[in-house]
Amino acid sequence: MPEPTLVTRFAPSPTGYLHRGHAFSALSAFCAAQAGGGRFILRIEDIDRTRCRPDYEAAIYEDLAWLGLEWEQPVRRQSEHMDDYGAALFNLAERGLVYRCFRTRREIAEAIESAPHGAMEAFFGASLAPDEEARRVEAGEAYAWRLSLAAAEHALGSFKGLIFQEDGHGPSGEHGLIKAAPMIGGDVVLARKDVGVAYHLAVVIDDARQGVTHVVRGEDLFQSAHVQRLLQALLDLPTPIYRHHPLLAGSDGKRFAKRDQAETLRKLRTSGMTPQALRGELGF
Ligand code: GLU
Repeated sequence: MPEPTLVTRFAPSPTGYLHRGHAFSALSAFCAAQAGGGRFILRIEDIDRTRCRPDYEAAIYEDLAWLGLEWEQPVRRQSEHMDDYGAALFNLAERGLVYRCFRTRREIAEAIESAPHGAMEAFFGASLAPDEEARRVEAGEAYAWRLSLAAAEHALGSFKGLIFQEDGHGPSGEHGLIKAAPMIGGDVVLARKDVGVAYHLAVVIDDARQGVTHVVRGEDLFQSAHVQRLLQALLDLPTPIYRHHPLLAGSDGKRFAKRDQAETLRKLRTSGMTPQALRGELGF
């Protein structure tokens, strides 16, 4: 049987301008697809409408084109697929795998502080008695949906068979076949109060819908793969191969972050840097 086509993706959120770290990530995914005779996809992760801005999205297209990347059209924008995420959430809810969480950020922070058995305790088993829950829904209180790890483990029998392949490296050098340990994330939020979906759920659906075979991204997202592997099992979705890469650091030794808008690709461009020079610097 022929090998399936290698499909990689770059999935930025338009909440700021791209910086060198993004360029490295995008080039890693793009060049992996090229080297394997595969396809490269760009996806816009814009579920958070309050933080995403059209001008940042336009800048993503401009900056990546400047860098010499080409991607397939049409670009998938998460905000256009809320029904798809909603259906997956409904499926999980019907099977009792998620529960409503009415807590505010402050309440969660307080619960963590006062948790007797360590911080994560606060994120487990926070479901309410059914009548109390019904009362609060009726009263129109906002809630998030959290994945119930206890229910998920019960549904699958065990988390033992959850394995994913890491072709790159996690932050502690994790490589090869990795046993997923979704417990580390606690009962993660799958649907935010304000947005109706959250990162992990949207990502596993999109990776599956877009046929992504290799997830190339920064090692800061390595822990996410543990949770995402569990969601793939619960939703009967394929598991891609993961290839996490180290994060780039600036000359001050600090990792690039969107919040410090130093060294954005636009600034580099306007200061006269050529894409060839930047690619060379980044090792491509
Ligand atoms: N949208 C995420 C970010 O900008 C990346 C998600 C992923 O690669 O899985 O950090």
